[in-house]
Amino acid sequence: MVTASAPVRGQMIYEGKAKKVYATDNAELCIVSYKDDATALNGLKKGQIAGKGAINNRVSNHLMRLLDRRGIPTHLVEELDERDTLVRRVAIVPLEVIVRNIAAGSLAKRLGIGEGVPMKRPVIEYCYKDDALGDPMVNDSHILAMGWATEAELELISTMALKINDILKEYLSGAGLTLVDFKLEFGRLPDGSIVLADEISPDTCRFWDANTGEKLDKDRFRRDLGGVEDAYGEIRARLLGGME
Ligand code: UDP
Repeated sequence: MVTASAPVRGQMIYEGKAKKVYATDNAELCIVSYKDDATALNGLKKGQIAGKGAINNRVSNHLMRLLDRRGIPTHLVEELDERDTLVRRVAIVPLEVIVRNIAAGSLAKRLGIGEGVPMKRPVIEYCYKDDALGDPMVNDSHILAMGWATEAELELISTMALKINDILKEYLSGAGLTLVDFKLEFGRLPDGSIVLADEISPDTCRFWDANTGEKLDKDRFRRDLGGVEDAYGEIRARLLGGME
């Protein structure tokens, strides 16, 4: 009988602010390992959030599985252990795709509106992924002119981002959470198709308690609000409570 063997972890190929990525003996797969390290303010603020890596790994995989069931292709293959996940190797499209339902963070500041003001319809923003430049905001015409994505890819990415917003908003509201805004990243598989990549976690989303408005995400770290670990733990409990 032929059995598929577990992929063997190879060399670290990338270390980011919150994750390490390892090659495997299968060129089409890699292993993402979530760290407790946290950064904010474009890397100026650094710290650790105890237990964050394990929470983000579990929460992100849980949400990716939900999206996959609802027709959104993702890079997820299999959760390997507490912090590590096997994913399809992709070439990341160098864009942060931000979707906003309620004004917060940089949008509230840039447009001079109060945090918490609902948008009449979801807003999509793109930032060019470049730490040295501080991830500048760009528009469709920059993206096409620079060749970061084709017109067809950008159309697909924006359609997927809005569908992801609909699915997550509804699902999270069932857990008593308001999805204020979030950031997505997409990747290309070897055949050129686009899949959702990176993570969806309290590091990359703003989650507010639907009743009290309490912030249950990385803003507690960014803004020194205290209770950071508890907020991440609360998200894990609300989304995965009965499953662990
Ligand atoms: N975001 C992210 N990574 C970034 C920038 C933003 O995950 O490098 C997420 C952030 O958590 C929030 C949303 O994208 O959910 C919008 O962030 P914003 O532009 O308001 O920037 P911030 O206030 O986080 O600097």
